[in-house]
Amino acid sequence: MGVFLRHVAGMATVLAAAAPAVARQAPADIVFTNGYVYSVDSKDHVFQALAVRGGRIVYIGDDGGAASYAGPKTRRIDLKGHMMMPGLVDGHMHPLEGGQNLIGCSLDYLPLTVGGFSDRVRACAADPSFRNASGGLVVRNWFQEAMKPAGTRLTKQVLDAIDATHPIVVRSSFGHSALLNSAALRLAGITATTQAPPGGEIVHDAAGQPTGMLEDEAQNLIAPVDPPSTPQEDVRAAAASLAAMRAQGVTGFLDAWALDKDLAAYAALQRQGALTARAHFAPLVDPAHAADIAGNVGRLKAIAARYDQGPIGVAPSVTVRNVKLFMDGVITAPAMTGVLLAPYRVNRGTAAAPRWEPGPSSGPAPYFPPAVLGPLLQGLVTAGFDPHMHADGDGAVRIALDGVQAMRAALPQADARPAIAHDELVDPADRPRFKALGAVPVLSFQWEKQAPDTVEGARDYLGPDRVRDIEPASLLAQAGARIAYGSDWPVDPLNEWFALKVGVTRTNAPEAGPRYAHPLGDEPGLSRAEVLRAITMNSSWELRSDTQTGSLEPGKLADLIVLDRNVMQVPANDIANTKVLVTMVGGRIVYSTGALAPKANGPG
Ligand SMILES: [Zn+2]
Repeated sequence: MGVFLRHVAGMATVLAAAAPAVARQAPADIVFTNGYVYSVDSKDHVFQALAVRGGRIVYIGDDGGAASYAGPKTRRIDLKGHMMMPGLVDGHMHPLEGGQNLIGCSLDYLPLTVGGFSDRVRACAADPSFRNASGGLVVRNWFQEAMKPAGTRLTKQVLDAIDATHPIVVRSSFGHSALLNSAALRLAGITATTQAPPGGEIVHDAAGQPTGMLEDEAQNLIAPVDPPSTPQEDVRAAAASLAAMRAQGVTGFLDAWALDKDLAAYAALQRQGALTARAHFAPLVDPAHAADIAGNVGRLKAIAARYDQGPIGVAPSVTVRNVKLFMDGVITAPAMTGVLLAPYRVNRGTAAAPRWEPGPSSGPAPYFPPAVLGPLLQGLVTAGFDPHMHADGDGAVRIALDGVQAMRAALPQADARPAIAHDELVDPADRPRFKALGAVPVLSFQWEKQAPDTVEGARDYLGPDRVRDIEPASLLAQAGARIAYGSDWPVDPLNEWFALKVGVTRTNAPEAGPRYAHPLGDEPGLSRAEVLRAITMNSSWELRSDTQTGSLEPGKLADLIVLDRNVMQVPANDIANTKVLVTMVGGRIVYSTGALAPKANGPG
C-alpha cells in the first residue's frame, strides 16, 4: 500500500508539473477507460477514456487523465478496447407505429408458404393478448408478394380454417391489401352486394362472393374489426419502441408525423421516468389549410404549450419544435406519386418487346403550391418552428428548396434549420442549394441498395439517366450539404447498423441474393466518418440539440453507446452486424448486455 501511494504521489507530481489540468478533480460518477472513444468532435478525434458527472461529460482523454476523476465512489468501467461513440440520433421515424408493429402479431416481412403462413397466424390466434377490443386479431407485416411458390393467392378459407368465429385481418406490409376471414367480413358488414369505395376493390370469386381480399381504399371498411388503438395500447407501443431504440443505441429521435396520441403516449412515459431517448415531435400541417398561416401557427403553438418541455437537460424530455409538411408521395412504382421535373416513362411496346418512353404524367401536383409554401415557411420560422419537409422526387425537392429560399429572403437573420427528408432524386442544379440555403437533407441510407423497389420499381419508370443518380447521398455531400440520417421506421424494420453499412457500401445484405448484390449506381458510398456524423452530430443539428448531444466533448450530455466491434475498422459489410453493449442517456445506463456493465434494459 505504501509503495502504491508513493508511486501515485510521485506520478502526480510529474504530471502536475507537465500539465496542471490533470490535478485531482472532483470525482466523477463513472469513469470509462481502455477504450476506442470516437468523439465526432470537429476533427473526429479518438480518445481512450471518458468521465461522467451529473449526467454530463466532464473529461475525455487518456487513461492517465481519467484516473484523476476516479474517487472512492466512482464506478469504473473497463471498455476492454471496445468502441464508444455518441448515442444515435434518428432524424426521422414513426416510433409509435414502429412500437405497434413490435407488440402486435407480425409475420415479420417473411417469405412464407401457405402452411407457414397458417402456422404463424394460428399461433397468434391462440394468444389472447393479441385480441383487440372487437375480439378480433390483426396480423401485420405480411409480405404478400413474397408468398411461396410465386403467385400464391390466399382467400378467406385459409383463415376460416384457423378460426371460424373470431374476426381475423391480415394486413400486407406494403399497405395495399388486407385478407379477412368470414367472421371479419361479417363484422365489417361486407356481403356480395357491398360496393367498394372509390380507389378500392372488394375481390370476388367466380360465384360473386367476397374472397376476403380487400385492396387499397376498400381497407377503410375494416375499421370495425381493427378499431383505433386505446391510450393504454399507445403507451405500451411507445414503451416497446423505446426498448427497441435502447438496444440499437438510439438516444434521441424525431417523430416525423406526430399526432396527439403519439405526444400523449411519450409524455406519459416521460412522467413515469421511463423515457429513455430524447423525444422530438413534428406535428403535421395539412395542405388543405396551408393558406391559413395564423391558424396553423396558433394550433402548433397550442400543441407546443401543452407538451414541449423547453431546452433539453440531463433527463430525457419532450420537444415540439419541428413541423411536418408533405410535398409529394413516393417516386417508385407502383405508387409513382413523387413530383418529378420530367415525366415518368410508360411502356409503349409490349411486355416481351418493351419500348419505354416519356408518358403524360410527372406525378401529382405538388401538395403545397409554391406561392403558398414560401409564406407558410416564413410564418412557421417566425413562430420558432423548424420545417421538416417530405420531398421524394426532384420536382418536390426543388419546390421545397424554393420555399426555403423565399423564407430566407424574407427573414435573412432567422436562425432556421429547415430539413428536407428522403431526397431520392435531386436535380444536379439543386444539389449545391442545400448548403447555400442552410437546408439539411435527412436521408434513409438503407434505401441506397439494389432491391425490388429501386430496381423493378424505378429503372423502367424513371429511365437510366435518373436511376444512375438515385439516392444521391455522396453527390449531396460533394456539394457541401450537411447530411443527417433518419430511418423512417417502420417503413423498414428498425436496423440502424444495417442502414449505416448500406450508407458506406451501397450494397444489399448477402441474403438478398446475386440479383441485388452489386452496388447501387455509379457514385461511391459515404465514408464511415460521414455516416457516423450524419446519425449523431448532423441529426443533432437538425433537432437543434447540437450544443448538447451528437459528440463526446466536455460539457455535453453523456449520451453515448459502447459497441461490440469497431465500426471504423471492421470490414464495411460487418458494420451491419454491430451489437450495442451499453446505451447511456444523460449519464444513466438504460441498456446493457452485461458484457461490460451489469445487465440493464430500462430506465435504470
Ligand atoms: Zn416518414
